[in-house]
Amino acid sequence: MSHEYEKVDVPSDGEPIEVVDEEADELDIPENPIIPIVHGDGIGKDVGPAAQKVLSAAADATGRNIEWMRVYAGESARERYDENLPEDTVRAIDEFRVAIKGPLTTPVGAGFRSLNVALRQTLDFYANVRPTYYLDGVPSPMKAPEEMNMVSFRENTEDVYAGIEWEAGTDEVEQVRDFVEDDMGFDDVMHEGEIGIGLKPITEKGSKRLVRKAIDYAIEHDRDTVTLVHKGNIMKFTEGQFSEWGMEVAEEEYDDDEVFAAPDSLWETQDEIDIPEDAVMVEERLADAMLQWMQLRTDEFDVLAMPNLNGDYLSDAAGAQIGGLGIAPGANFGDARVLAEPVHGSAPKRAGQDQANPSALILSGELMFDYMGWTDAATLVRDAVEETISSGVVTYDFARNLDDAQKVSTTEFANEVIENIEKLS
Ligand code: NAP
Repeated sequence: MSHEYEKVDVPSDGEPIEVVDEEADELDIPENPIIPIVHGDGIGKDVGPAAQKVLSAAADATGRNIEWMRVYAGESARERYDENLPEDTVRAIDEFRVAIKGPLTTPVGAGFRSLNVALRQTLDFYANVRPTYYLDGVPSPMKAPEEMNMVSFRENTEDVYAGIEWEAGTDEVEQVRDFVEDDMGFDDVMHEGEIGIGLKPITEKGSKRLVRKAIDYAIEHDRDTVTLVHKGNIMKFTEGQFSEWGMEVAEEEYDDDEVFAAPDSLWETQDEIDIPEDAVMVEERLADAMLQWMQLRTDEFDVLAMPNLNGDYLSDAAGAQIGGLGIAPGANFGDARVLAEPVHGSAPKRAGQDQANPSALILSGELMFDYMGWTDAATLVRDAVEETISSGVVTYDFARNLDDAQKVSTTEFANEVIENIEKLS
């Protein structure tokens, strides 16, 4: 490991997290780890420092100390490095293995490609994990929001997010059109005139390792079902194949009494399937139907495993059921590495006003702690956030949907969570 960086310093008091066994996902975590942090763009400037303070407080309260290593991406990197994603940042996240980031802005249409996607692909963070659970006191549009306790595993490196697309009017897109029409015989769908074309790669390796992670999680956390969510009735050789490969993992890599594969589950409800006691059932659902079942049969779903785009849509919708993006955490996992980040983006219209809800980033930190084996600190963080919200102290997003809430700023909310950490520890 070379700890030499161009424009950032490695904290001299901390120790690096080392890999024990990459394949077995095993790290050696010191009590004073160096953890890179990107505050992010837009509301990242508000929620980044707030979450950092809260996570430091939880580490301190459990007898540890985080040595933060501030690294830069997006706007803050352009100011320092004149580029969006400097080598320093990628290397720090790579070498120190456990990191956390706020949101980064991606322009629509022209401009640079997503920095988030670039980071996930470069460092092979192949599973984006987004838990959705209800915290007491959070306003929700649902009658029984507490029925949701689900964890989404979204494939993070391929699908239409792989970024293989060609712009209308270019020579490249016309070459692809000629190939598809003349060589592959699809002349009836490529209409005349301008066209944009993209590819949707879904690989056996990408699908299987994602589903494997989801099943392992379900076994480890005593969950009953893993649902493969896809649109394989239409996209047979990509989404349909994802599901087939996923079922193969369930059938071939686990004992029958541990994991029960239900490949015919598309047209059955869960109560029609004869599941062996204590086994995790791996079932499949079509993505469009899933969006309604998530609302109508919420408590049936435990762990979802999905290709990239489905995972993005479904986890945002699930987040809305438990209070919205302000409280929806996430983390990207690779082998022996994690990059925690909330589901939400940089919310430009809320940026720089000290008003955004830092809960999603704080709770992403909870996921990071859990992965590090700091389960006491993780529980403390979640309990303190819940205690704060249930006492009626909330940011603007929740205050507008509650009658008697005390509306506070991002900073005040974080300070209140820290006080609760101190009280609860
Ligand atoms: P967004 O940034 O997630 O914000 C959409 C809306 O959700 C906000 O206007 C706000 O709603 C609410 N919201 C999000 N985060 C919140 C928080 N912490 N507290 C309270 N409310 C919150 O989605 P977007 O506007 O579609 O995207 C903006 C930019 O972020 C884009 O450039 C996009 O590419 C990028 N993005 C980045 C990531 C990432 O870094 N991983 C993820 C998603 C999007 P109200 O204004 O109605 O209160």
